[in-house]
This record gives sequence, C-alpha cells and structure tokens, in this order.
Amino acid sequence: MLNVQNLTFSYKNTPVLKDISFKVETGENLAIIGESGSGKSTLLNLIYGEFDLNQGHIFWKDTEILGPKYNLVIGYEFMKYVHQEFDLMPYITVAENIAKHLSRFYPEEREERTGELLNVVELKAFANVKVKTLSGGQKQRVALARALAKQPEIILLDEPFSHIDNFKKQSLRRNVFKYLKDKNITCIVATHDKEDVLGFADNMIVLEDKKILEQGKPEQLYNNPKTPLIASFFGEFNVIDDRIIYANELKVVEKSNLKVTVITSYFKGSHYLIEANLNGDKVFFEHNTLIEKNSNLYLSITKP
Ligand code: ADP
Ligand code: MG
Repeated sequence: MLNVQNLTFSYKNTPVLKDISFKVETGENLAIIGESGSGKSTLLNLIYGEFDLNQGHIFWKDTEILGPKYNLVIGYEFMKYVHQEFDLMPYITVAENIAKHLSRFYPEEREERTGELLNVVELKAFANVKVKTLSGGQKQRVALARALAKQPEIILLDEPFSHIDNFKKQSLRRNVFKYLKDKNITCIVATHDKEDVLGFADNMIVLEDKKILEQGKPEQLYNNPKTPLIASFFGEFNVIDDRIIYANELKVVEKSNLKVTVITSYFKGSHYLIEANLNGDKVFFEHNTLIEKNSNLYLSITKP
C-alpha cells in the first residue's frame, strides 16, 4: 500500500501542496485530477522521491520514500515513473529501448517479454525502427512499454496518453490499464482527461488550491459533484437553482417552468449539444436532433 501522510511541499517560496493525505491499495488504479498548475506532476515527483518534503511522510509498504537529501540515487527498484517528457535513447530501436530494462541473462524470456510489451502498446510493426524517427505519440508508447518492462510494483503515469492520437488512444488505454490490473501493479495516473479515468480508475483525487478538494470513486464524484470544477471535469453542465445539472440531465418536455430559446446546436456524433438562453443565462442540454435557432421550448431536469 502507498501511504501519503500530511504531505506539504513548496518550490523555494511557492507552496504547491498543503497537508495532502491519501492511501492507495496494492493493485489499485488512482487518478489524480486537477487544473493545469494544480500540482499533479509535483505530487508524482514527490511520490517518486525527486524532491524533499517540507513536511509529512510517504511510505510504499514499509519503505519510506526519501528525497535527494537522504537518498543519493533518486528512485526505487519497485517504482517506475513515466514523465510528461519521456527520455528515450534515440539512436537505438524501439525493441532495444524496451529490452534494455530486461535481464540479459535470459535472452529468450527477454525477447518474449519485449514482444508482449510491444503488443500492449501496439508497436510491434515498429520494433526495429530507431526511436529518433518516431512521432511524439509513438515515443510516448515506447516510454510506457519501457516502464512496464521491469514489472514495477507501482507505476506513476503523468498524462500518459496526451501525445497519442484518437485513432489509437482508446485501445491503448484499455491495453495498458488491463495489463496493470492483470499484473496487480498499483498505478497512479495524473490527468485532465476524463477518458483516462472513467472505466479505469478505482478511486480519484481532485487537487485544487494546494489541497485535496475531494476524493472518492469516479461514480460518487460524477453523481454528486461538490463543486462546478469537479462537474466540469466530467462534461458540459449547468447550475440551475444552485444544483449542478449535466447537459444530459435535461430533456425537452411539453411544458415546464424552464422555458428556453435555442441559440446554437453543436453536432456531437451520438447527439447534439444545444446551447440555449434561460432567463438571460446560457444553458446546455443534449438532444438527439438538431433544433432550429430561436425555437422556444421547455426543459425538465431528469436527475432524481
Ligand atoms: P500540474 O502538473 O497539475 O499542471 P505542476 O505540479 O506542474 O502542476 O505545477 C504546480 C505548480 O508548481 C505550478 O504553479 C508550477 O508553476 C509550479 N512549479 C512546477 N515545477 C516547478 C519547479 N521546478 N520550480 C518552481 N515551480 C514549479
Ligand atoms: Mg503536469
């Protein structure tokens, strides 16, 4: 289990994280979300032991994670970290970059494991290509495979799919998170993309203003967002009578006390997102067809 206790940290004079405490069970997938600059990467760096804490403790099982002041070599065998900037060896191939982290004493297993990892990140066809010729997204996939190669007990992923295009993203996420679950590898993912969280994270933490604003299961945070910031992570929403109502929780009805005038319809594939005017405020709702501009209609809240 990872145990973060009352962690406080500043870069020089800028406090970034204040009194942060949480636990992650072995094999659990924890998502850390928050706006840009909220301290997600800093928190991962601290868990990795990259900096010294001002206050608090971090334990992985019985081992205390120590910063550079107490630990000459940064990092631990049981932990891998895929940074936002991934440093690969550009002049050797994809397969060699991955295999570098596997034991040389078992060449057959080494080859088999490299093949398995190339499948996870869907780069089999690029095995013998030099890394310097790859795109940003492909490099990110090599970095992921390389981190998985050593079978860490815990892996830290900083916006792991940010450079990967939408054609590949969905299947890659499923592969990587399934691989981690199958091997019971504890995983902490910093992200601002709900697609990295929903369907994969067991728990999530929301960072805001140096603190943990909220933590819980994705279902709990989605169904009961404490603040607009949390709702905005999940999708388009409205505040109506002080309640947070997602765009898909409003539907058109015959008559109600929510009379709106349509401004624009946005095509979203499976539905249209309709922007409308409700007593001078903007309101967003989902509808399965386009609605003409200036149409007047009534909405009802479907949320229980
Ligand atoms: P996030 O990953 O959520 O975008 P970061 O952890 O990168 O946030 O940054 C949190 C805050 O710490 C920001 O205000 C950022 O400017 C500051 N910061 C990040 N890295 C450093 C650094 N090496 N030195 C000083 N300030 C930093
Ligand atoms: Mg970051």
